[in-house]
Amino acid sequence: MSLSWKPVKRGRNKSIFCSPACGHDCTREAYKEAIQWAKDTIAMMQFGNWKVRVWENLGWHSSIVSNGGHLTIYIFRYDDGEGSYHTAYDPEGKHGGTPMPYSVGKTNFKDPNEAVRAQIKQVRKVLDKEIKGFQTVLQAAAGF
Ligand SMILES: [Zn+2]
Repeated sequence: MSLSWKPVKRGRNKSIFCSPACGHDCTREAYKEAIQWAKDTIAMMQFGNWKVRVWENLGWHSSIVSNGGHLTIYIFRYDDGEGSYHTAYDPEGKHGGTPMPYSVGKTNFKDPNEAVRAQIKQVRKVLDKEIKGFQTVLQAAAGF
């Protein structure tokens, strides 16, 4: 039997908000913070429509997901409040992991917009290459 990932409130003043599967005694405060970081990041975005996504695994983590689920921006906040952002690109729009060809070399950015631009640039590079390859096939087929 596997433990549930559904977080439950417990403890003094219900200050714990953690699932049995996590078991790290994550706090409700950390949960609210994770949501706030995601909202702050959305406010920083210069383009796109984004949704807050938080999850728990030995602490609350936050990200924002593009409409359609192709792009995810993972948020890391340092103690001084500075943020660090990296992206994942899922061609299928299921906010999954990044397939190798789409992986961005430099992964952490101080500006989430820069993180997304680097990701889009990499995706475009891969797609351009595929289109070129496809055009070669088309030209060869036209020659018959
Ligand atoms: Zn937890």
